Amino acid sequence: MTDDLTSLTIQEASRLLRLGSISSADLVTAHVERIERVDPQVKAYLRLTQQLWEKQADDADRKIRRGDAEPLAGIPIAIKDVLCVRGVETTAGSQILRGFKPPYTGTAVARLFEAGAVMLGVTNCDEFAMGSSTENSGYFPTHNPWDLDRVPGGSSGGSAAAVAAGEAIIALGTDTGGSIRQPAALCGVVGMKPTYGRVSRYGLIAFASSLDQIGPFARSVDDAALTLSLMAGYDPLDSTSSDRAAMEVLNNYGAGVKGMRLGVPREYYDVQGIEAGVKAAIDAALFILQKQGAEIVDVSLPHTDYGLAAYYIIAPAECSSNLARFDGVRYGLSEVDAPNITEEYSRTRRKGFGTEVRRRVMLGTYALSSGYYDAYYLKAQKVRTLIKRDFDAAFEKCDAIVSATSPTVAFPIGSKTQDPLSMYLCDVLTLGGNLAGLPGISVPCGTSNGLPVGLQVLGPQWGENVVFRVARAYEEASEMKAEVATPVPSPHRGEG
Ligand code: GLN
Repeated sequence: MTDDLTSLTIQEASRLLRLGSISSADLVTAHVERIERVDPQVKAYLRLTQQLWEKQADDADRKIRRGDAEPLAGIPIAIKDVLCVRGVETTAGSQILRGFKPPYTGTAVARLFEAGAVMLGVTNCDEFAMGSSTENSGYFPTHNPWDLDRVPGGSSGGSAAAVAAGEAIIALGTDTGGSIRQPAALCGVVGMKPTYGRVSRYGLIAFASSLDQIGPFARSVDDAALTLSLMAGYDPLDSTSSDRAAMEVLNNYGAGVKGMRLGVPREYYDVQGIEAGVKAAIDAALFILQKQGAEIVDVSLPHTDYGLAAYYIIAPAECSSNLARFDGVRYGLSEVDAPNITEEYSRTRRKGFGTEVRRRVMLGTYALSSGYYDAYYLKAQKVRTLIKRDFDAAFEKCDAIVSATSPTVAFPIGSKTQDPLSMYLCDVLTLGGNLAGLPGISVPCGTSNGLPVGLQVLGPQWGENVVFRVARAYEEASEMKAEVATPVPSPHRGEG
């Protein structure tokens, strides 16, 4: 019985809750038991939040009994360790913030709490969201529930793995270059990155402020769409948040793809390093969409090759500035027995930051320094504009863009950690969407070699509803609902 309760969608769980067949407390208990059983292997969670879930489940049960349940009443949620929750240790996956308890809850999380969600815990991620495998966590790596010897993707790997392994019904992540969509693809769940500005970033520990967006992980497109609609919308605490109506993300999204033009960028379709099995899964998806009445059109994003380089200038430049505040004085870790304040700063930062974070702070500082600013940062910003224009031109010819989310399936833990460039290449198909500020989703699209493949759908600015519409039509026609994994030792041991 309890395992049945850990593979539900929001819609299924809400129905049982409203019928009175189960209580929110039952739903939480089932999930906590599941976490106790599978998380020692998966390691999706950094911390569990018992006090919070007890109170929130209690509130939800009371409201459900009274008949005034909110849309997420009683739904268990996991939150990535970069989103501040009042009184809950929040560390961005970093030792430098160990022990930091935010004095406030960020807007997106607060809105989901108001909508009735019940927080189970804080999920693991790459340190300050820098990575594609969750191996850069300052604590421990998370394991892919479909094959425990492989990575779950990153940086929001803990959130993706938690939903995939039945340890939460929904989860929140953040996406700066692909960190929601790529782990969703590798774990076989739905992951959605909204248009830049759709969701307030207030209370998000910043990595690269012009790229970061918060978004949901879920087991169905409907669940992702509902969750997004509840956290979107203007927030006076984030001046980049848009005042467009949150509910527009749901406009007409059940209408199907008949008559829609779906663009396949040739640079994405034949991207370097794409695995044959991934390509075959995408071909099959395109065929299904076509059968549903969509027209598949050839489009081009000619500056794709420059995207990775531009991203790896802009993101480190912004991070070097954002991370300057972690100095051992204001937050978390502090190396106080230094002879002077400058030495205290540098000892704290050397000890508290991991290798990848230090690499990016150095690269970013270099790119912004006088004499190099024009050659690197300014140039990268110009390339960013060209990439945005590529998308604008493509959307003249099509309503949405479809591709693989990741060129490969989940790779073995440790296989890319010595080679940063091969790790960076995980994001070639996702980071263009961040540079251009566009909405995108990854939905389960079959398997290659027994491991999940993700189909990415990108839409024009503010076109979340278009993205959901294509994704939902595909989900329905393909019957590729996200399944819950039973974590077992690697069936692929010794390969790859
Ligand atoms: N993997 C990319 C990086 O390391 C993207 C990370 C993200 O989206 N947060 O920067």
